[in-house]
Amino acid sequence: MADYDAVVIGAGLGGITSASLLAKNGMKTLILEQSDLVGGCCSTFESQGYKFDVGASIVEIVHPMDKFFALMGRKREDYIELLPCDPIYSFVTQDGRRFSYPTDIEATTRVIESIAPEDVEGWKRFSKLGLEMVDEMMDAMMTSPMNTLGEVAAMAAKNPKVARYLPLLVRNHQSVVRSYYKNPIILGSVAFQSYFAGAPPELGSGIFGFIALSEHLGIYYPRGGMISIPQGMLKAGREHGLEVRTGCKVERLILDGRRARGVILEDGSEITADVVISNVNAKVTYLKMVGPENLPGWAVRAIDSYRLSMPCPMIYVGLDKKPDLDAHHTVVSGSIEEMNRVWNLYYTKGVIPRTAMSLICWPTEADPSLAPEGRHILNFLCNAPAPYAPLGDNWDRLKDWYREEAVRELERTVMPDVRDHIDYLEVSTPLDFERRLLSPQGAIYGLFSDLTSLALFRPHARSRVIRGLYLTGSSTHLGGGVPTTIASGIITSNYVLKDRG
Ligand SMILES: Cc1cc2nc3c(=O)[nH]c(=O)nc-3n(C[C@H](O)[C@H](O)[C@H](O)COP(=O)(O)OP(=O)(O)OC[C@H]3O[C@@H](n4cnc5c(N)ncnc54)[C@H](O)[C@@H]3O)c2cc1C
Repeated sequence: MADYDAVVIGAGLGGITSASLLAKNGMKTLILEQSDLVGGCCSTFESQGYKFDVGASIVEIVHPMDKFFALMGRKREDYIELLPCDPIYSFVTQDGRRFSYPTDIEATTRVIESIAPEDVEGWKRFSKLGLEMVDEMMDAMMTSPMNTLGEVAAMAAKNPKVARYLPLLVRNHQSVVRSYYKNPIILGSVAFQSYFAGAPPELGSGIFGFIALSEHLGIYYPRGGMISIPQGMLKAGREHGLEVRTGCKVERLILDGRRARGVILEDGSEITADVVISNVNAKVTYLKMVGPENLPGWAVRAIDSYRLSMPCPMIYVGLDKKPDLDAHHTVVSGSIEEMNRVWNLYYTKGVIPRTAMSLICWPTEADPSLAPEGRHILNFLCNAPAPYAPLGDNWDRLKDWYREEAVRELERTVMPDVRDHIDYLEVSTPLDFERRLLSPQGAIYGLFSDLTSLALFRPHARSRVIRGLYLTGSSTHLGGGVPTTIASGIITSNYVLKDRG
């Protein structure tokens, strides 16, 4: 008899969601996490009295989290306190113009009118369609399995209204937003969200163009930092008997032919299980933990053909005064052309982009308890994204230079006196990110998400080649993001429960 019904590798959001739901359904379940913290990219670490978020800085669509707690027989409010953030963003354009988008749609109309009256009609069309879409598609699109054409067809048959949005999936992000807006400043403010799905506007799916609308339904920051999300979810899982071991790295799967039987840890010990769920990058899962020698040739070629998602350096800043900002997120925005140019420079030439777009997150606006009394935190994505292997150099050597670049960029854009008020400054390069989370090449969203690697074209949640192996998290359908990886965990647990009958 196996030690556990299910072993889950990795306590990211996908792993925690699926493990908790299996525990709730009576399966003896264990999560193994290599780091000392849970949550993976959605986590928070403490240093010198400051609590910095590792990666994710906001929750945009709460629906999958609420669905998770409902499936657990619990209420989200009893486990996680979400603080609304309004305005959604403050923008700083390359020529120093500043404006903000509030949550309220009418108030946003007035902001757009003050910048580009010609785009008000486009905004009205965009928000009308976006609201209908969110209403009609949210549950169907987010938590239905889409591993096969049959499953996609079944989802569409069950939700006939979804069919009208399918063309958006196969158009690119920039063509969708350009069909609503003309002004370059407005276009810049609705195009950078394609990076939230891990691709530039010319390669990202047009459906992600509507992220800019879904944000108006509310964006939230969890009290206590982003780690409060995985911690709150785990609490609900533990109440149903879920076990978690941190500081426990999995090296390999135990295989019996092409059947998963458990895992082998770094220290050589074995844990057997009927089901193994991997929340680790799909390329690592198949090519390292299973091993190419245990896979058919076509599967090795298929998994090898996926590109990793982008890496992204992060700068963690502690300040001894309140910054001159007016929103949780400030976006230093550029044009669509600049967003594509930066991507091509970085992806094809390995050049670290300069004077591009940045995202400045100010979490102590929502929750002052994250910093010592009177102090503040900025989590800064400077000139994001950037290459894993900078041309002719290496991130360990570039770290000091990059730190200085980041400070100069903050001085240039939002805080001219920042240098005099820095109390803490640390850079997490793509190499640091890889070391911290064992994420290959510092990939922040698992695998690249262009039009050819979505839904059934992404690695399947139920492995097609290793029986008893399931995948969850950002490498699988729906891709990277807090709501999407929670949704992926729901989909994966449904497969496991269905297969156990
Ligand atoms: C910089 C950055 C900013 C982001 N901003 C946002 C945002 O604002 N809003 C949003 O919605 N999303 C955001 N995201 C995306 C979101 O955080 C992630 O997509 C999501 O949290 C990933 O969840 P996951 O289930 O894929 O697991 P991951 O977070 O990838 O976690 C995987 C876990 O597996 C563990 N692990 C790896 N190898 C092993 C092993 N061998 N043995 C045991 N454990 C192992 C890792 O330590 C990790 O804890 C951001 C991500 C980053 C990196």
